[in-house]
Amino acid sequence: MSGNSLPAGLEHPPRLPHIPVMALELVTIPCRADNYAFLVHDTDTARTALFDAPEAAPIANALTARGWRLSDIFITHHHADHIDGVAELRAEHGARVIGAKSDAARLPALDLEVTPGETVDFAGHDVTVLAADGHTIGHIAYHMADAGAAFTGDSLMALGCGRLFEGTAEQMWDTLSRLAALPEDTLICSGHEYTAANARFALSVEPQNAALIHRAEAIDTARAQGEFTVPSVLSDELATNPFLRACLPETKRAVGMEHDSDAEVFAEIRRAKDKF
Ligand code: ZN
Ligand code: FE
Repeated sequence: MSGNSLPAGLEHPPRLPHIPVMALELVTIPCRADNYAFLVHDTDTARTALFDAPEAAPIANALTARGWRLSDIFITHHHADHIDGVAELRAEHGARVIGAKSDAARLPALDLEVTPGETVDFAGHDVTVLAADGHTIGHIAYHMADAGAAFTGDSLMALGCGRLFEGTAEQMWDTLSRLAALPEDTLICSGHEYTAANARFALSVEPQNAALIHRAEAIDTARAQGEFTVPSVLSDELATNPFLRACLPETKRAVGMEHDSDAEVFAEIRRAKDKF
């Protein structure tokens, strides 16, 4: 209630400190066998962004349950398990579809073609486009600083990174280095629930990493209770993700490659994961 006057003689209550309104709400939606899609809702403008569309139905249900209308669909890369729901959701909601200009030929029809380094406006919030080549060529990631979140698709993943289907190890290492430079408290919203299997591999690379041992236990507990392990926090990835840690002396020592370049060590860890 505002503007109400207190009865005479009562002291005016102390003014509360200004508490910033959390205008952005992040929702993780499981799709298909092990995919995730993400909604970011801006309560001030009632706009809602979707990051990847593995399939339409669970996303449509999540929107209906909250009474939200989709305004923007951001795509990370061309694989079917990230775009299959785009056409239906776009037709239903009239949403603007955003994806990489360089990969437009393989993506659903785009309303906005973007290039790494550029910034897209979502409801007054900057969404920065980051190059994320490696898993595919033309893969991009999105960083929304106001949401404290990066949408990384199949580039940086919880305790892992995407397979190198199209790009080189050098390209993926560049991608991971770029994402590693984001604020440490950034939520890494990645495309799949692969974390438990990733943890087993990570422990084979760094069996002595105490933070990793602790995280692997927490992941097993979470999965046993049916909880998501995505999004994860970048600081946890920096402490435990063997792919992100390829540049560290302790990781190089663990794989017996003290004198090799960061990208070479990353390439070796990625090869080992493919065979794990
Ligand atoms: Zn993919
Ligand atoms: Fe995928």
